[in-house]
Amino acid sequence: MRYQFKFRPYQRRFGRSLTTNHGNWDIREGIILRLTDETLRVGWGEIAPISWFGSETLEQALDFCRQLPEEITDEIIFSIPDELPACQFGFESACEWGSGKWGVGSKGDEKNNFLTPNSSLLPYSGLLPAGEAALNQWETLWQQGYRTFKWKIGVDAIAHELEIFESLIHTLPASTKLRLDANGGLTYEEANLWLWTCDNLKANGELPLEIEFIEQPLPVGQFQQMLELSMSYETAIALDESVATLGQLAAYYQQGWRGIFVIKPGIVGSPSRLRKFCHQHQIDTVFSSVFETAIARLAALQLAAELSRNNRAIGFGIDHFFEQEETWLQSLCNDL
Ligand code: MG
Repeated sequence: MRYQFKFRPYQRRFGRSLTTNHGNWDIREGIILRLTDETLRVGWGEIAPISWFGSETLEQALDFCRQLPEEITDEIIFSIPDELPACQFGFESACEWGSGKWGVGSKGDEKNNFLTPNSSLLPYSGLLPAGEAALNQWETLWQQGYRTFKWKIGVDAIAHELEIFESLIHTLPASTKLRLDANGGLTYEEANLWLWTCDNLKANGELPLEIEFIEQPLPVGQFQQMLELSMSYETAIALDESVATLGQLAAYYQQGWRGIFVIKPGIVGSPSRLRKFCHQHQIDTVFSSVFETAIARLAALQLAAELSRNNRAIGFGIDHFFEQEETWLQSLCNDL
């Protein structure tokens, strides 16, 4: 198949600044691309890199787009190098979009109906505010329909966090699932203490709700220790920062990881190869956003629906971070 290729960079400001362990993030930059095949079917794609999480930089993605001819082929798309995982995702998902198999309009789709808020049949995970604020603010998320919550740990002194945790598990309704995300911020001793605490509460029948998993307890470089922890405790561990790309995911699988993998489709790389890997190895996955627009979100939710197992909630509860998405994205697409 041959495609006419067009692209345009975008910038969008977060409704409120996003605090990560790499500092504050105010503006999301990415690239919207459009592929028109020989039958004039249009497919949209989005490249939304997060270089500090392990993908290419926006500049590298732009350079790649700029050096491409106006007409490209499947051959070019399916041989994008692994160093450009967000590009692999953007181009391949544009092809899939255009193929019509997702049931979204493509031919002469002037109304850009993909911009209607898309939702998933999978449950969503809601992010609680850090620290004690979680105790008062979970109810708002509950009213919005969230039943799985994520709470950040490794932010404050562990003794204090364990105290809040104790209150939190007795405050949240018993039907909730709680994820504890350390973002690699615990020491080995602290990770042991968290896992031991969760195991111990459960063994004593003192855990009123389900602790779904502890996410990325240790820094990226400490895989062996995380593997050892995952074998020593009942409480599950999910790798997140450690597995930004499909290459890393496959490597840790080979090294014995049978815990949970957090997958960010926007930067993980080729969707077709991800599908193949997930089907082959039946890995336990949690799908998560990279603060993409509705275009990449649609592609990511397709993958999540296909590949999620164990009905795990997905981390796409981010609509409130952006304002007026429809208007600017629609006009950008109309101009492209
Ligand atoms: Mg995480």
